Amino acid sequence: MHKRLIVFALLFCFFVVPPLEAAFISIHADHYCVVEYGESCPVCVTIHHAGNLLKQIRDAASIIFFAGAGLFAVTVARKKLELFGNYLTTLVDVKARMNN
Ligand SMILES: [Zn+2]
Repeated sequence: MHKRLIVFALLFCFFVVPPLEAAFISIHADHYCVVEYGESCPVCVTIHHAGNLLKQIRDAASIIFFAGAGLFAVTVARKKLELFGNYLTTLVDVKARMNN
């Protein structure tokens, strides 16, 4: 049950929140600002926070993508090496004792 909740939360963060934030930024980009781009305008502050959150989500997505690509490349390389022979054996793999 917790796994489904975590997966749903992650999917929500990566596929629902960014389009909503981008829509908010594009809708309110040229709003009638009560102050000259000051920090006291709630719309400007929200746009700033939404932009920062979009950058963080983009960074997390790129990290996840490159980690997955690296893992995939290592897995494919291991499978290719196993096709041409077992080059990845170590002394621990063959349980060789070196103390006799
Ligand atoms: Zn404003």
